[in-house]
Parts: sequence; structure tokens; C-alpha cells
Amino acid sequence: STIGDAFDNTVAAYGEREALVASHQQLRYSWNQLAEEVERYARAFMALGLQPGDRLGIWAPNCAEWCITQFASAKMGAILVNINPAYRLNELEYALKQSGCRWLVCADNFKTSDYQSMLTELVPELASSRPGDVHSEVLPELRGVVSLADQPPAGFMSWRELGALSESVAVDDLKQRQAGLKPDDPINIQYTSGTTGFPKGATLSHRNILNNGYMVAESMGFTERDRLVIPVPLYHCFGMVMGNLGCMTHGSTMIYPAPGFDPEATLEAVASERATALYGVPTMFIAELGHPRIKEFDLSSLRTGIMAGATCPIEVMRRVISEMHMEEVQIAYGMTETSPVSLQTGADDELERRVSTVGRTQPHLETKVVDEQGNTVPRGEIGELCTRGYSVMLGYWNNPDATAGAIDDDGWMHTGDLAVMDDAGYVRIVGRSKDMIIRGGENIYPREIEEFLYTHPAVVDVQVIGIPDDKYGEEIVAWVKLKSGEQADAEVLRDYCKNRIAHFKTPRHFKFVDDFPMTVTGKIQKFRMREISIEEVR
Ligand code: ATP
Ligand code: MG
Repeated sequence: STIGDAFDNTVAAYGEREALVASHQQLRYSWNQLAEEVERYARAFMALGLQPGDRLGIWAPNCAEWCITQFASAKMGAILVNINPAYRLNELEYALKQSGCRWLVCADNFKTSDYQSMLTELVPELASSRPGDVHSEVLPELRGVVSLADQPPAGFMSWRELGALSESVAVDDLKQRQAGLKPDDPINIQYTSGTTGFPKGATLSHRNILNNGYMVAESMGFTERDRLVIPVPLYHCFGMVMGNLGCMTHGSTMIYPAPGFDPEATLEAVASERATALYGVPTMFIAELGHPRIKEFDLSSLRTGIMAGATCPIEVMRRVISEMHMEEVQIAYGMTETSPVSLQTGADDELERRVSTVGRTQPHLETKVVDEQGNTVPRGEIGELCTRGYSVMLGYWNNPDATAGAIDDDGWMHTGDLAVMDDAGYVRIVGRSKDMIIRGGENIYPREIEEFLYTHPAVVDVQVIGIPDDKYGEEIVAWVKLKSGEQADAEVLRDYCKNRIAHFKTPRHFKFVDDFPMTVTGKIQKFRMREISIEEVR
């Protein structure tokens, strides 16, 4: 079925139950109420002239309108283009142009940025044209922008005005439109996080993301009684697929604590909404565990959740289980290009496996670990992880070369991640192939050194990179965040390494920092760290 059909089934089955809580907006919707909004805006998007396959962008932090736009566009067939709320002019222009968005829904402001003024700077024609009639030189396909502000400036259509347009499209026209959509139609373009460089637009179908959202929530045993707190961004598959679609396919409740990540609002939402599940990337859980008042929040309703998106430190997993009551917490591995999840631990996996691997291949998918020639390596050996099955994207939007480089002729998606599979099929992610350090001919996996330094009592977080070196090819640099009040310097940490890890794995340089360069998904951008360290060491 399509996302719209699945949504209708959920509404029919769970109409009166709570569908969505947007805490920061003080908004609550039952599935019936959400369906009313979704239908209104689906008809409104049709009234804008959007045809199946046309691109509709959304550039906003987490909010109720994001969710409504997601399901409304899925019902009427426009391809939703998720635009990172942290994007600035350059990146925005790239994404809008690359995807050819006809319409854009944007927030008024978020953190320090005013979306509307950035847009007017990019598209000066906006200010002087009527919404729906914009002709921009920079963005030739753009026709108009909808603003989520209460009082949008001239040239922008308000969310309320958009809603009113629905009157001009009959309910039956929407039904017909929805009935004509196919599961393999593209319905979503998501840009990758940009952890390793420029983000690429993955084109995803109903089949891709609907099934993956279902499978992810299924493996956590979700039912209509589950209530999931979603502090991860909706513009990313973690929020919109694993979060929104996971809940929607099970009649569970979606809870957005704040527009962007806010550890306190997240803990508060868990406690006040009696949430049963919580998502996050490792840095988010680290921030929550480090919150000075964590003990004051009643987290006892929590049962499960997922930590994913980047390497999940074993120590953090243990603390999430013991201090946040998430006895059934799971680790998932995935990437935007595979909708996203392909490996996941199970609640019944023994703790040791659950904290040290990313689990096994999800049902209905295949994975393998290959060498540089593409041959499967023996179990226990390191190689590149590949995924095949329903979840593999249709391709990178308008970029056949990149698609051909990522998906081979047999349909295998090459992830660029290095992994080891054990005899029982459990996979350990060793790191990204781009991050592997080759020093004096030795292959060094930063993760191993990170896990080790993490055990030093003064260290709260650590990231290891390689930078070019004349003598050894590459040298190891560790960026270290210390616990507040703790003291340690390079000498102390170097001493700590002595006799505990091989000398060639001991970082040559240590840099003490308060933060790492990050994407808004909370992922650490090692390529930026490398740029900085190269400059500093030179
Ligand atoms: P880009 O492709 O633009 O550089 P990105 O790869 O970070 O960015 P995403 O698609 O958001 O963009 O992230 C997928 C990547 O995240 C995976 O390829 C993997 O490197 C990493 N990842 C995801 N889950 C895990 C996990 N559980 N453990 C380790 N790494 C993970
Ligand atoms: Mg990637």
C-alpha cells in the first residue's frame, strides 16, 4: 500500500487515540483530528497545482505542521523534499535547485536564523510577487513559499491561507488522486547528513520508507499504547521514518519535545507524557545523562527506544539501560540511502551483544561484507558492508553517476562503512572507510582508540582522526572533551595509553575541546576536524 492508504487504516483503527503531541506548541491531535488536518492540506497542495512527482520542500524544525505536511504530501503524491533547518543560503539554494522544488513550506525563525529573510535574499522576486506566481532567476521552478509564521511578510502565503485553499478541491478528487499512486512512486527526497562531505539527495519510495518505519517499530514491539518521544530531527529519516512512520503504522503516539534538540525538554516530555520509548543519536543520550537534574525527572515509564546514527559507545548504552530505565533499548544501523535501517539489535539479545554490535540483518533484507574486489570476506574479517532489498533507495536524485557508484548491477548498496560479521550474523561497525587511518602501513580504526580513551575517568567524549604525515603517511590526533572539573593533559593521556594499547595506536597529538564540529543530526564531522587539525599541526 502507499503511505496515504496506511495512514487511513490507522485512522480507521485508532481514531480517538492520541496521534501527536507537539509539546513546544501546546498542540495535541487524536488520529481523527490529525486526519482532518492532513486531508485539508492534501487538498490545499492539490489546489496549488502540485502534481504527483512535483517537489514540495519543507525547511522547518520539528513542529506539528511538519508532520501534517509529510502525510498530506504522501496522500496527494508530491515528493516531499526534506531540507535541513540548519542549512544557510548556499546549502538552501543547492537543495532547492538540485531538487527543483515548486513550493516550499518554511518556518519563520529557529535559533538565530530568520528563514523568511534568507529566502527573500535568495529570491528577491518573492517580495514583489503573489504567492503562486513567483518567477525567480535563481530558482526557475519555484512558484511560491508558505510561511509558518503567524504574520508572514509580503509575498509569502500563510499556513492558514494555504489551508483555506482546500475548499476549492473536492474530497473525491483527493481520493482519486490517492488511489492512482503506486508503492514504487518516489515520495521523498532526503539529503544525507553531510558527515563526510556534500549531502546527496536520496530518492525514496512509499515502499522504501513505509516498510522500514513499520519494521523498526515492529522490532521494538510497538502497539497503540506506545508513546515515543522524538527529539531527533524530522527532516532526517531517523525522525520522519523511524519516528513518524514507525508510530503511524502502529497507532502509537508521536511526541515532539522541542523544535531542535533540547535535553531538558526531552527529559521533561518523557516524564510528563509518560512516554514508553525515546530516540536519539549517542550525543543526545550523553547530554541527557549529563543533565544536572536528570534525577528529578520520572523516567520510569520508559521501556525501549533506539540509539543510532553514529557509533554508540558501550558505556553510554549501559547507562541508558540502568539510569533511564530503557531496559529494551536497541541499537540500529542505517543510512539515508536505505530508508534508513538495515541492521538492528533485538530486545531479546543478551546485553553484551546489544551494546557491542548493531545487531543482525532486519527481516526481508540482505547484508554482506565484502573486500575491495567485491568478494564476501570470511566471517570475522573486516570489509565493506553492503545492503540489498526493499529498502534500497530508487537512486540519488538527478545524479545517475553517484547512483551507479553506490548501487551495483545486482542491486547491492555499498555503504562506505567497514564492518565485521560474526558467525551468528551479528555485525560490528568498525568505522567509515573514509575515516580509517593508515599509519606506517598499519590499518588503524579510530573507533578502537576512542573506545579505549573513553575508559579514562576524566574523559567524557573523544574523537580520533588521521591527518597526513610526511614520515608515517598519517598521524593520529585525538580530540578530547573532559568532564567538568577534571584535569588531564596530553602527557597524562599518553601515559594512560602506554602498555594498554599498541604504541602505533597512541595518538601523536591531543586537542582539548568543549565541542566537536557537528551536523544538526548531532553527528561529528570528522572531515572538518581533519581540516582544523591539519591547519593547527602545520
Ligand atoms: P554523508 O553520506 O553525507 O557523509 P551520513 O553518511 O552521515 O552523511 P546518514 O545517511 O545520515 O548520512 O548516515 C548514515 C551513516 O551513519 C552510516 O553510513 C554510518 O556511517 C553511520 N551510522 C548509522 N548508524 C550507525 C551505528 N549504529 N553505528 C555506527 N555508525 C552508524
Ligand atoms: Mg553516507
